[in-house]
Amino acid sequence: MSQPKKILIVGGGFTGLTAALRLAADAQCAVTLVESSPQLGGLAAGFPLGGTSLEKTYHHLFLTDTSILNLVQELGLAEKLIWCDSSVGIFRNGRVHAFKTPLDLLRFSPCSFVGRLRTGLAALYLKHQKNWRGFASVTAHDWMTRACGASAMASIWTPLLKGKFDRHAQHVSMAWFWARIHIRANSRSGGGQEKLGYFRGGFNVITTALEQEIRRRGVTIQTSAAVTAINADRTAVINGETVAFDACLFTGPSPAMARLLPAQESLRDYARQLQSIEYLGAICLVFASDQPLGDFYWVNVNEPDAPFLVFINHTRLVDPSVYGGKYVYYIGAYLAPEGELYNLPDTALIERWLGYLKKMFPEFDARRLAEKHLFRFRAAQHIVDTRYAGKIPDYRTPLPGVFLANFSQIFPEDRGTNFAVKEGEKIAALIQQHLDPARPHPAALP
Ligand SMILES: Cc1cc2nc3c(=O)[nH]c(=O)nc-3n(C[C@H](O)[C@H](O)[C@H](O)COP(=O)(O)OP(=O)(O)OC[C@H]3O[C@@H](n4cnc5c(N)ncnc54)[C@H](O)[C@@H]3O)c2cc1C
Repeated sequence: MSQPKKILIVGGGFTGLTAALRLAADAQCAVTLVESSPQLGGLAAGFPLGGTSLEKTYHHLFLTDTSILNLVQELGLAEKLIWCDSSVGIFRNGRVHAFKTPLDLLRFSPCSFVGRLRTGLAALYLKHQKNWRGFASVTAHDWMTRACGASAMASIWTPLLKGKFDRHAQHVSMAWFWARIHIRANSRSGGGQEKLGYFRGGFNVITTALEQEIRRRGVTIQTSAAVTAINADRTAVINGETVAFDACLFTGPSPAMARLLPAQESLRDYARQLQSIEYLGAICLVFASDQPLGDFYWVNVNEPDAPFLVFINHTRLVDPSVYGGKYVYYIGAYLAPEGELYNLPDTALIERWLGYLKKMFPEFDARRLAEKHLFRFRAAQHIVDTRYAGKIPDYRTPLPGVFLANFSQIFPEDRGTNFAVKEGEKIAALIQQHLDPARPHPAALP
């Protein structure tokens, strides 16, 4: 019998874990997964809070997230999944306005009445429009301004685009925006109510189940192990040690992949392509308190002076009893990692954010906080501008046996754990086909 093929997977987020699961099912593969941080889960990783696990960055699923929902079923986790009614508000002109139903939109007083009507029509059009390609080279800013007018842009859309894309807001492709509206509008149950999925025990239940299953299938997992180079001779450097592979999959950010490549003239253009994909960082402040704040799960903060994008009352989705009776909140922002706000010391940032919260909820009392945690991620969101479709890197890299699968390949949809699972499955099939060309190519698979 031939020796099993050595597969090195770099990254223990949902893409890497899913790829490991699929490749480990193949007796011909000996899989090693390395993760630079001390824990698995990547951007969806959890931390202990109130006797359970909570995501460092707010997470939920949509009804349309079929790849991860199938995986949840396969891992026997279906009974841990709960579907909750979503509730959305917008903070503008000094108060939170409900912003979930068509009637809420009609009542949204910060926008002119004509602007509200135009916004409703635009949303309806985007919901039913199935082809996004015509939107790819138009900016969301231009298309939405034409469709909805200046008042709707000022009170609804510009703050959202700025909150999500910071200084890149004006360049974001309408195709991305189309996907947000289209998927969201179609993630409703029969009654028209938007449902969001969450897990008893948090998303960590998936990470843990994946970890257990891939270990059971013989995968070697190394955490706190950084890959610092991937070479042309099918070797990689892990924590200073050179190891050989037959196939290697990198799942970290595209520019990080560029930094691992050998300094070869033939790889210059490829490295430039990877580096042309820009990312924003994200900061999330999570706090628990005995004080109830607001009636909504999700509040977009649309005031021009707002220092963050979103305020989330997680315990509007999941009962406070799960967290020892405490209310659990997130404040979140996407920021340029080299910018001033991203680099503020923790105490200064927390003071600024909690100070602003008092503007939103005058009754907010910081002395009632039971605990608080601040998390920073340097590469949390790629910038999907109007030239983005042409920048997307291939799964195959110019290095023999080396593959790339990360969320910068997801377009026009917004990245998410569902797409990470989908990518992980796709790339595993591609690697199997690479190792055994007699297998059908994944594109030919159903
Ligand atoms: C604020 C925020 C909110 C979100 N909300 C949702 C949501 O509600 N629902 C949802 O489904 N998704 C959500 N997402 C997106 C979701 O978390 C990601 O799309 C998904 O987790 C990406 O998984 P991944 O494996 O592709 O990448 P990552 O999770 O980034 O994993 C890549 C891993 O590779 C490791 N790595 C990188 N370089 C190296 C190296 N050289 N050596 C070793 N390891 C390395 C990293 O440490 C990381 O753990 C959110 C993300 C953010 C930031």
